[in-house]
Amino acid sequence: MKYVSTRGSAPALGFEDVTLAGLASDGGLYLPETWPSFSRDEIAALAGLSYVDTAVAVMKPFVGDALSEQELHELCTAAYGRFSHNAVTPLVQLDHTHWMLELFHGPTLAFKDVALQLLGLLFEKFLSRRDDHITIVGATSGDTGSAAIDAVAGREKINIFMLHPDGRVSDVQRRQMTTVLAPNVHNIAIDGSFDDAQALVKAMFNDVDFRAKFNLSAVNSINWARLMAQVVYYFYAAVRLGAPERSIAFSVPTGNFGDVFAGYVAAQMGLPVERLIVATNVNDILYRALSEGDYSQGEVVPTATPSMDIQVSSNFERLLFDVGGRDGIALAEQMRGFEKTKAMRLTNAQRDGASALFTSHRVDPDHMNLALRWAYDGAGQIIDPHSAVGLAAALAAEDLPVDVPIVTLATAHAGKFRDAVERATGIRPGLPSRVGTLFDREESYERLPATYADVTAYIAQRATAAE
Ligand SMILES: *Cc1c(COP(=O)(O)O)cnc(C)c1O
Repeated sequence: MKYVSTRGSAPALGFEDVTLAGLASDGGLYLPETWPSFSRDEIAALAGLSYVDTAVAVMKPFVGDALSEQELHELCTAAYGRFSHNAVTPLVQLDHTHWMLELFHGPTLAFKDVALQLLGLLFEKFLSRRDDHITIVGATSGDTGSAAIDAVAGREKINIFMLHPDGRVSDVQRRQMTTVLAPNVHNIAIDGSFDDAQALVKAMFNDVDFRAKFNLSAVNSINWARLMAQVVYYFYAAVRLGAPERSIAFSVPTGNFGDVFAGYVAAQMGLPVERLIVATNVNDILYRALSEGDYSQGEVVPTATPSMDIQVSSNFERLLFDVGGRDGIALAEQMRGFEKTKAMRLTNAQRDGASALFTSHRVDPDHMNLALRWAYDGAGQIIDPHSAVGLAAALAAEDLPVDVPIVTLATAHAGKFRDAVERATGIRPGLPSRVGTLFDREESYERLPATYADVTAYIAQRATAAE
């Protein structure tokens, strides 16, 4: 399997190189050259499989010969062995139509663990093969950071520098990052928003000398391997609800468009996906793009769902590439225009291609709170605010055939966002025992201004330079 860049001028690479590189050298994102496809019989045959066996079957065509089937199986067993639920990503029924797919049973209580536990092991495997070293730089609105740090803490050939917006992540989120005192873990609180942090990381990747000198690598959802790992649970859930005989709709609380893009990939592979509902909070660039073709960046408004407080969705570029005829040179031009003016119109091909599968719903705080209470009053489920945004969008979905189950992706454990849950329901969710004594542990992080010079100087002093 070869991977090509959405901007058309980086070399095509195999799975191992794509995993280690993250972003393509032309500033684009990698995608498989063609989508692997599963027949109805092959999908039906997934029905009885465990999560790990499903993961191996779904990911094998993407991994190609970079790993033997046995190696892939070992890595999946190790990654998903750290989840606290036997089913890894269990389904919970809310009513006749609505289900939640619980993705938060990993070590740091958000769905990011599903991909990052595997990615940490993939990095280690590939780096030890080449006897190489990488510097991971990432920007986090909270959950990627803790999941990535947990996945790579203490690993010898990796240094990780994680930027978060100072004061804009929850206490639990911050402590999950800053109390990991391994020498290869470096937390940076920048004076700015998540988008500022993400722009700094993008600039480092576009800085050819800096990138090569420190062997930069990405764990943000621009890394293809992360999306690949997320495709698995769409299959796992859908076959349990009747695929391939029955088609399934998914509602996905969305920020960077990684999680919901994995659903799109599953559909391209042949999974019968009736619809993908892109649920946004009031930071609604994706809602405007999908409903009106207007992809223009607004100001980020802080909400009770910080992991969705985003006004630039990196992975949307992957969709625009795939539905817009896979013309990398034209897309590079379009994206350069966006980077300059912070606004662009989708082409007709992009709009039509996206609307075949996607709809979008913008959820305000009142509807989020109503969904939180609906889940609690009607099904006894205490859900987190992000999941509630997804559920609110699912409850508002119209025109779906009556026999189509709607699965909302539950992206975080309610305990991770206790204050918001308490405000909506009056109930303060506890933290599961697997996070331990988070509030008694020492924290370590550096506060820096959101400038390129400050952040790169800090990293250059601490990262391992290539020989
Ligand atoms: C990251 C995150 C999201 C958004 O996922 P994307 O892949 O960025 O769209 C939603 N909810 C939670 C809890 C998250 O951590």
